[in-house]
Amino acid sequence: MLPPTGAGVVVVGASVSGLHAAEALRDADYAGPVTVLDADPGPPCDRPPLSKQLLSGAWTREQALLRDADALAGRGIEVRHGVRALGLDAASSTLDTSAGTLPYDGLVVATGAVARGLPGVGARPGLYTLRTPADCLALRADLEDGAALVIIGAGFIGMEVAATARGLGAAVTVVDPLAVPMQAVLGRDTGLALQRLHTNHGVAFRLGRSVQVVHGASRVEVVELDDGSAVRADAVLVGIGARPATDWLTGAGLDVSSGLQCDQYLAAGPRIAGAGDVVDWYNPRYEQRMRVEHWTNAAEQGAHAARNLLLAPGDRIPVDLVPYFWSDQYDVRIQFGGVVGDVVRVVPAGDVDRPERRVVLTGREGVLTSVLAVGADRPFVRARRMLRRATPMDEAEKVIRALLSTDLVSTDPGRAGAASCLPGNRLAVDAVVPPADSS
Ligand SMILES: Cc1cc2nc3c(=O)[nH]c(=O)nc-3n(C[C@H](O)[C@H](O)[C@H](O)COP(=O)(O)OP(=O)(O)OC[C@H]3O[C@@H](n4cnc5c(N)ncnc54)[C@H](O)[C@@H]3O)c2cc1C
Repeated sequence: MLPPTGAGVVVVGASVSGLHAAEALRDADYAGPVTVLDADPGPPCDRPPLSKQLLSGAWTREQALLRDADALAGRGIEVRHGVRALGLDAASSTLDTSAGTLPYDGLVVATGAVARGLPGVGARPGLYTLRTPADCLALRADLEDGAALVIIGAGFIGMEVAATARGLGAAVTVVDPLAVPMQAVLGRDTGLALQRLHTNHGVAFRLGRSVQVVHGASRVEVVELDDGSAVRADAVLVGIGARPATDWLTGAGLDVSSGLQCDQYLAAGPRIAGAGDVVDWYNPRYEQRMRVEHWTNAAEQGAHAARNLLLAPGDRIPVDLVPYFWSDQYDVRIQFGGVVGDVVRVVPAGDVDRPERRVVLTGREGVLTSVLAVGADRPFVRARRMLRRATPMDEAEKVIRALLSTDLVSTDPGRAGAASCLPGNRLAVDAVVPPADSS
């Protein structure tokens, strides 16, 4: 329990998880000061548009902002931009920051993740990772019509950028040591189907290959691969994942061995909670620890972490979230929910014009544990509900087959889940299920 007033709650990180945490404190009638610090100088920008609408130019930077500054101020939430947390002294409940020492009654660590760079390849103009609006706008400026973009890493961010860059007229080559794009999450068949979608849009792949050297002194010029071949590059995007932003917690006495270790209540220490991409927590729903790097998880965790921070230990609520993400590539929405089981059933839509359309169900001991939907928004809405209760695989498959046979391809990104990336959208913890279908 926190004192109602005093030093207040400090949230480190003003992105999805941090802002949801701050707002949840006010929703729970917490009356003390709420201060949110962020190392970034500008107002908080949402990250999904960085590979989509902001990169394509469909949205301005203002449209990609997470929150309206006045609305936050109106709720008594002070956001301090350009202030970096440098260290934590849990014994005295103080933070060392770039703007001086800051005491707290409660602390929410929401520092997210940092994009990984390519080992052994030094920074230079034209070489990008994608995590901030500044990264996005600089990359966009390099993607003039006909520019050659090499994307290193065929994961979700890499493949979203490939789709957006093709829309801008760039020549795109994707390099990955694995044989199939996005295979780790989508599986081989669906990964291959999406590879065909990208190939049909003119993306070139160099799969099963690694980068040896990035040539070019004053800016990137050529990417040399491990078979000795060379790919010309006006710009290079490195999309090889992210690591939790815990450097500043070194020596603070918290376990940051692989992300900030939190219990099932998202507690990391006395009056310290964690939320979002930085957190590795025990998810009681699956009886396993997990670190999830997706928007909805960050939003949900932010709110749960803040609520639990205000409660006495015996009253805290276990945080048993069902992981969820979406990805938009061309006019296809990919959605995934749950945790992959050991039995896989692929339900193709049978759409000859859109062979990638399908729903993939996985389960364990006959019960549905995950759903992947490609270009199948309406079935996914139903499947996501089924994931929340112990639905037999056979029943789930029957429902999905029926829905898929009548579903039309949704090209409307507002249909399901997209609400979460709309500017200024505020996600209530109990309202994360996309809008119910009308059937
Ligand atoms: C290009 C891109 C596209 C994405 N697209 C999707 C998508 O389509 N669907 C999906 O589900 N997810 C997507 N994601 C993932 C989603 O955006 C993240 O899961 C989400 O942003 C995590 O939020 P967070 O609050 O945990 O951390 P972050 O968004 O990483 O924010 C952490 C904040 O903490 C600040 N910070 C870090 N260290 C310090 C410090 N020491 N002191 C002060 N401040 C600090 C940072 O400046 C940052 O603002 C995408 C991510 C990226 C990068």
